[in-house]
This record gives sequence, structure tokens and C-alpha cells, in this order.
Amino acid sequence: MTSSEQTAANVAAGNALLRTEGLTKRFGGLTAVDDVNLQIDRGEIRCLIGPNGAGKSTLLKLLVGQLTPSEGSIFYDGRDITDLSQHERARNGLSMKFQVPAVYGDLSVRQNVHIPLQREVDRRHIDGAIDETLDEFGLLDAAETRASDLSHGQQQWLEIAMASALDPDLLLLDEPAAGMSVRETEQTAEYIHRLNEDRDMTLLVIEHDIDFVRAIAQSVTVLHRGEVFAEGPIESIENDPEVRRIYLGEVRE
Ligand code: ADP
Ligand code: MG
Repeated sequence: MTSSEQTAANVAAGNALLRTEGLTKRFGGLTAVDDVNLQIDRGEIRCLIGPNGAGKSTLLKLLVGQLTPSEGSIFYDGRDITDLSQHERARNGLSMKFQVPAVYGDLSVRQNVHIPLQREVDRRHIDGAIDETLDEFGLLDAAETRASDLSHGQQQWLEIAMASALDPDLLLLDEPAAGMSVRETEQTAEYIHRLNEDRDMTLLVIEHDIDFVRAIAQSVTVLHRGEVFAEGPIESIENDPEVRRIYLGEVRE
């Protein structure tokens, strides 16, 4: 089966959790996301890669509802969510960790996780829910630490903990391993696998580190100048000379 036949089969089987049609975002004269047709199936871990400025963060912000598309549609679980707010999308099970860490530095780790959980979890159960969430990301011992005093890696984990606290069906992660050590990056890959396997989350992850991509992704979408440039299993993407060229910034006009 070719990949487009596979995609058609998945759509027919109703496996698509997220689908975009002609998704486009312009900033003035710049087209940051250009006619993107993307499909993410339930249960998969997809990596989104591409050179700086390719439009990766913009695409995720469109999906989560932080930005409004110039054109095109977004379907989630078979439903058109293009006009839903970020909050409404979150209630439908779509959550995101942004590229720029957004933890509340003056609050403790515990207080940070309290913020997303308080919307859904009954007060009597919230302490237990916080402990469980922190434990999952190795942050239980740091529960009373001010978030700004955490290491960079721990801050990233805290953000993933907050984004995943309400058990989204689809979790979008923008560069979760940026600036991490090798050991921390491996740990992050393990957390992502656990979210996928133990908590049944579908993940769309932007990442630069190809070792990390290899560790987590079943399939990879390459974005270049706002367009889908290539898509497929990591092995074929890695060995695609055209991808190597754009990814290494070797394309000359
Ligand atoms: P990536 O995450 O792949 O590095 P981005 O999605 O952040 O790329 O950016 C894609 C392009 O859109 C870049 O040229 C960037 O400068 C531009 N861009 C992103 N956000 C804005 C914005 N809010 N206003 C204007 N231009 C933007
Ligand atoms: Mg980005």
C-alpha cells in the first residue's frame, strides 16, 4: 500500500483523530503555513520537523486555536473545530505545550499543576491528582520548589505535566527536548512513550534532534516554507536526499 492509499484507508476506517484541509496562515505578505493537508491517526506519535521558520510552531498554534487560519479547515474526531476557541478545543481533548516555556515561575511546582487540574478535578481529589501527575514526571520531590528554581529540563517536564494533566486525546508538543542534556532528552522520550502507551494519547511533536525523533516517532512530516515537503516512516525520511538538503539548509535559490 502506498502512503496515500494508507491514508485513504485510515480515513475510511475512521481512524483520523485530526485532519486539516488546505490549512493556510498568512502574516501580512508572508505565508507561514501554506495549504497543509495533514492527517494524524488515533494512537500515533507523529513528529513534525523542518528548518527554522518552516512554519511548525504556527501550524501547531492553528491546531490548538491560538491562531486563526487565513484559509482552510481543521477537523477533530470527525468534527469541524475551525471556529472553536482554544478553551473549547481543550474541553474536547486537545492540549498543547508551547515552544516558549509558560510555567508560573513564582508559584510552586504543585501550584502550577493545580491550575489545569482545578478546572476538572473535584476539590477533594485534587491533591491526589497533583501527586499522581508530578510522580509521573519525576517531580514529586520538587513539589514545593518554586518553578523558576527548577532546572531547564524539569521546567519542560512541568509544562508537559500541565499540558497532559487533563488527559487530552491529542497532545501537541513544541520542542519538548530543546536545550536538554542527552540524559534528559532520553527521559523525555520515555515520558512521551508512556503518555502514548499507558494513557492512550495521540501525540504530534515538533523536534529538531534527529536522535530524539528516531526514539519516539513512527512517522514524520517534514514542513518546508509552510508546505508539507515529505511524509513517511523515519527511515525513509532520514535517507531522503531532498529532505537532508533542506534540513541542513543546503538549498540554494
Ligand atoms: P518554526 O516553528 O518552523 O521555526 P514559525 O511557525 O515560528 O516557524 O514561523 C514561520 C514563519 O512565520 C517565520 O518566518 C516567522 O517569522 C513567521 N511568524 C511566526 N509568527 C508570526 C507572527 N505572529 N507574526 C508575523 N510573523 C510570524
Ligand atoms: Mg518553532
